Amino acid sequence: MSAARVRLTPELRTALHCELRSRHGSRCFYCHRHFRHRPMRRKTLDHFIPHHIWPGWDVDNLVLACERCNLAKADNLPWPLVWLLLAVYRPENWELTA
Ligand SMILES: [Zn+2]
Repeated sequence: MSAARVRLTPELRTALHCELRSRHGSRCFYCHRHFRHRPMRRKTLDHFIPHHIWPGWDVDNLVLACERCNLAKADNLPWPLVWLLLAVYRPENWELTA
């Protein structure tokens, strides 16, 4: 079974939450608010690179996010990554091949 087809079982969800909490702490990756604050309590697994580009549940592509940040980001690339890509791949750096 490919990694893209792995189902997110409750056991896998718990293991991913533990791994991500040890990596980033118990805070939302985007707004940095602690999950113990009452309005922020619901934490979600977010695909940093959108699921349609990097499918599956690879922990290297996951972050813990509050529900509000996850919904706001939706299925888009995160803006810091877009800015980085635009800085690296400037048109003057493109090579035309013929
Ligand atoms: Zn957040």
